[in-house]
Amino acid sequence: MLCLGIESTAHTFGCSMVNSKGSVLSDVRDIYKAPEGEGIHPREASRHHMEISSIVLQQSLQSAGVSMKDVDIIGYSAGPGLGPCLRVGAVVARTVAGFYKKPLVPVNHALGHLELGTVLTGASDPLVLLVSGGHTMTLAFSHGRWRVFGETLDITVGQLLDQFGRALGFASPCGGRIEQLAIQSAGKYLQLPYVIKGNDVSFSGLLTAAIKLTEKFYTPDVCYSLQETAFAMLAEAVERALSFSGKREMMIVGGVAANRRLAKILEASCSRHGTKLFVCPLKFAGDNGSQIAWTALQEYQDSKTHVRVEDSFIKQSWRLDTVDVSWRR
Ligand code: AMP
Ligand code: MG
Repeated sequence: MLCLGIESTAHTFGCSMVNSKGSVLSDVRDIYKAPEGEGIHPREASRHHMEISSIVLQQSLQSAGVSMKDVDIIGYSAGPGLGPCLRVGAVVARTVAGFYKKPLVPVNHALGHLELGTVLTGASDPLVLLVSGGHTMTLAFSHGRWRVFGETLDITVGQLLDQFGRALGFASPCGGRIEQLAIQSAGKYLQLPYVIKGNDVSFSGLLTAAIKLTEKFYTPDVCYSLQETAFAMLAEAVERALSFSGKREMMIVGGVAANRRLAKILEASCSRHGTKLFVCPLKFAGDNGSQIAWTALQEYQDSKTHVRVEDSFIKQSWRLDTVDVSWRR
């Protein structure tokens, strides 16, 4: 069985072909670039997605060496995300599903990160740290759903890095650039607010304080201190969740999983708990159509769940812990 997965929750428009074994036959993406110093403008991002969508779809079919007739089902990212961006992916999915008469499967985007992460890493029952532009959560699977152990009380770690980077005049996404700057620091730690409440983290005060430090201190030292503080908070939340849940596996997914310093800090956390760490491969850490295709495939193969084109939907706010995951036992 072959699935076309369409992703369009935020800056990425992606189309991928994935088969029932979890093999990715093609993964084509085009990312909207905001002007320097600015964040994602939802209308501009959706305009980008509209302009690029047919090219990305064609390239995805071509690079998999298939035609639409070979595709069995179509999955699309139905939320959570930016409304104008979600609508573009949904319109493309509805059009193709309606024209070629294929089953249409709406997918929760966060679930896509987790499901593709487990098939690619081989983790079977991990505690998950989902760290991306839209999410900062610790999760574990229990009784049919991914349950939230802890999450951010305000902005996500991706937003922390992106908003800090924009204050320095960079274009979003900025996480990679901040990581490179932090490496240039000689390891001079500047004091910053460290806020963790129970299993939840809060980054907004840290953002304000870090931006203020850039007026007086060497930028690489501020980047280093920002990363050390934010990642130590995440590691504390993870260690608490590991102690409580007793999970023997831990997995990091989402765009921030590309950060090597975060992986290093979590490696140390996991070794203290005798837990095996799985990091989602760099290429699939950020948003992509493969995560949507693979999740849609599993759902459809398990229960034939799909929606009629006229009943298809988008949900800008769609919490992961409200989604039933019948195929994972
Ligand atoms: P996603 O929403 O999953 O596509 O992830 C996007 C987020 O990942 C953005 O906030 C990026 O700044 C962040 N990101 C990408 N690469 C890195 C990196 N090397 N270190 C930290 N954050 C990163
Ligand atoms: Mg994402």
